[in-house]
Amino acid sequence: AKDKGKNGFEFFNEQLNQIMSRRMTIENGLQNGLREGQFSLHYQPKVDLKTRQIIGMEALLRWNHPELGEISPVEFIPVAEETGHIIAIGEWVIREACRQNKRWQRKGLPFLPVAVNVSVKQFQNGKLLSYIKRVLHETGMESRYLELEVTESIMQDIHQSSPVLHDLREMKISISIDDFGTGYSSLHIIQKLPVDTIKLDKSFIAEMEEPSQLAFVKSLIALGESLDLAVVAEGVETESQVNKLLDSRCRIGQGYLFSRPVPVDAFEEMMKDTLIN
Ligand code: C2E
Ligand code: CA
Ligand code: CA
Ligand code: CA
Repeated sequence: AKDKGKNGFEFFNEQLNQIMSRRMTIENGLQNGLREGQFSLHYQPKVDLKTRQIIGMEALLRWNHPELGEISPVEFIPVAEETGHIIAIGEWVIREACRQNKRWQRKGLPFLPVAVNVSVKQFQNGKLLSYIKRVLHETGMESRYLELEVTESIMQDIHQSSPVLHDLREMKISISIDDFGTGYSSLHIIQKLPVDTIKLDKSFIAEMEEPSQLAFVKSLIALGESLDLAVVAEGVETESQVNKLLDSRCRIGQGYLFSRPVPVDAFEEMMKDTLIN
């Protein structure tokens, strides 16, 4: 007799079980993970495309799970947002980024701003401002070295986010719109918000060899310029992209061409040189 094998339903069922159990492990692990020091920040330089000088950094969250190993933030951030854990995790990220930045300053390394990613859920929570104030006070970090990156989704709830943004502006904390062009963006709104920078998503940069995509990127850069916003290109991987960006008057980039996000020690080594390549 032939081996029966698994029918489509059993196979589907097994896969679904696997997905659900992974999701449960992640969900249950978020709280412990924070307590038990499983999270860390990696840093990726922001680079002046012309001089190749490091002009800032983005802090990116990493989770080393005891059973699942490294889990991408693309997978666990949405879970943390759904379950509410993002508030505690996001607070930890802000605190850790400020502490590390201040540590580098004390060590005599160049004073460079650090950008942290902030979920729209943190904006809606109502405690973001007071938390940031407390952390700045406790760490001795000056507000002008802290930047926040938020996605376009904050524009959906403008009545809630606008006052927070204005308070942040008053505190001299700068705001970047992350993944600009991928989501919900209203030019009418963005023009009224106290935003400093737009970050072009890496998916656009990756396709710049295509003439129509290049034209699109150019138009986003021109738009940023006309709104008096700084424009940062994310996901820069090739010299050809650098040249095209400079031709389009975009001066700041981030990407594997310069460096991947790296742990604290490796970033510190990079800062000692400040010049990349
Ligand atoms: P993002 O904020 O758009 O960050 C850029 C992502 O692109 C990072 O992925 C970075 O490692 C990656 N990247 C940088 N340069 C290149 C490149 O040249 N090529 C390619 N292919 N990728 C590049 P990562 O670190 O996996 O983070 C993914 C997303 O997770 C972030 O996207 C952000 O939305 C979210 N995230 C990361 N850390 C945090 C955090 O602390 N809080 C919140 N709320 N979200 C975070
Ligand atoms: Ca970001
Ligand atoms: Ca992005
Ligand atoms: Ca993002």
